[in-house]
Amino acid sequence: MTDLASLGNGNGEEKKSRLSIYIFGAIVIAILAALVVPKYAAQFELGGEIFLELLKMIVVPLVVTSVMSGILGLGDVRKLGKPGGCAVLYYLSTTILAVVVGLLLMNLIRPGVGSMEQTALDEAAQKGGKKSAAREKIVKSLEEDTGLEQGEIAEIFPQLKGESKEVSSILKNLVLMLFTDNLFNAAAQTELLPLIVFSIIFAGMLTTMGSKVGQLTTMINQVNNALLTFIMLLMRIAPIGIFCLVAGRFGEAQMKGEFVEELQKVGGYFVTVVGGLGIHALVTLPLIYWLLTKRNPFLFIRHMLQAILTAFSTASSSATLPVTMECAHKNAGVSKRSTEFVLPLGATINMDGTALYEAAAAIFIAQAIGMDLTLTQQLIIAVTATLAAIGAAGIPEAGLVTMIIVLNAVGLPVEYIGLILSVDWLLDRFRTAVNVFGDSVGAAVVDRVMTPGSAQSKG
Ligand code: ASP
Repeated sequence: MTDLASLGNGNGEEKKSRLSIYIFGAIVIAILAALVVPKYAAQFELGGEIFLELLKMIVVPLVVTSVMSGILGLGDVRKLGKPGGCAVLYYLSTTILAVVVGLLLMNLIRPGVGSMEQTALDEAAQKGGKKSAAREKIVKSLEEDTGLEQGEIAEIFPQLKGESKEVSSILKNLVLMLFTDNLFNAAAQTELLPLIVFSIIFAGMLTTMGSKVGQLTTMINQVNNALLTFIMLLMRIAPIGIFCLVAGRFGEAQMKGEFVEELQKVGGYFVTVVGGLGIHALVTLPLIYWLLTKRNPFLFIRHMLQAILTAFSTASSSATLPVTMECAHKNAGVSKRSTEFVLPLGATINMDGTALYEAAAAIFIAQAIGMDLTLTQQLIIAVTATLAAIGAAGIPEAGLVTMIIVLNAVGLPVEYIGLILSVDWLLDRFRTAVNVFGDSVGAAVVDRVMTPGSAQSKG
């Protein structure tokens, strides 16, 4: 199969590192441009939008064909049980670890205590409005960020309709998210979980039908390979696309003028969450990676850099999925078997960064309004933040919406979401980068654990 190296001249390794450097450079220049000439930087929004659409365009067919081709490669769906179980266990454990880091840091640093004057609190509550107005505000911000209509947003985020506090009903909703009555609807809404479930069952069935479905099997593998080649082409314009995305969004924020001011108000919270994300990404995950694979985690980070930077720029794990799969397989040498199944699952259910942020934000709001949380309430926050993160879609600001579940669970007033709203778009980028990195560590770990003798060539 053609790869980036063979699309041009030069050594493949070198080209990949160069691409990561170009992408990093593009982000730095875009941020500088946004700070110095925000009006011009904001004009690049269109280019960013086009790049994002190109990435998102292939997510659904890629997930369907890669999960199917992964199962077909196994030869028998029953062999999926172990890696599948291992992936879910890994993802759940790291999400819980992330939540614990978030809770510990917020309790140690206590950035919310006394940070807000009563007037600032009233202002924030007003900004968030009463409960319904807070929801409206979130829907509006989602409309801006995702380009979806209000009705579509309400369909994707049922939490915006109800106020369920029970952990059991949250669990029930999560289980229901695995299924759909209409595959095409699920595809149109990029609801990946039911598509993954269908793909597993369908491909599993194909493996039992032998030569009767030989052509169909070959076709699924070929479409999958063609899509992977398409991603490689897309990565060649990634530095430009990413420059446009970042310049457009940061330029717009700078033009509104309130961003730096808002950041100063909730700076303690912002720095604490980014610090927590940093600990998870640079200490916890590398340690797990090293312990379970006995390989150099920092080399693995280098191999995944394009995906991590794309996640930062798009604020969407789903849109980044094609790049994550490409980096994990081509750069880090994770087996196709693992990337094809574990990564789509991870992009949908594994959100370490989001879980950490949801727990931290809930504690911050409690501290800011002077509400003392008992140990039990903090435990409830930990459990609901984990579940809310699993339920969050891999799209911009999804975590902000599912956080309503966490706030409701311990009776924190939803209107105070207004306190953190203005910096959330930036925090979203950091947590998405951590989500994507967590997914890829999961794929590498499952790969290694499942095939101990296998040479993960590079990571
Ligand atoms: N934007 C995040 C993601 O796509 C989800 C979130 O809002 O935390 O992974």
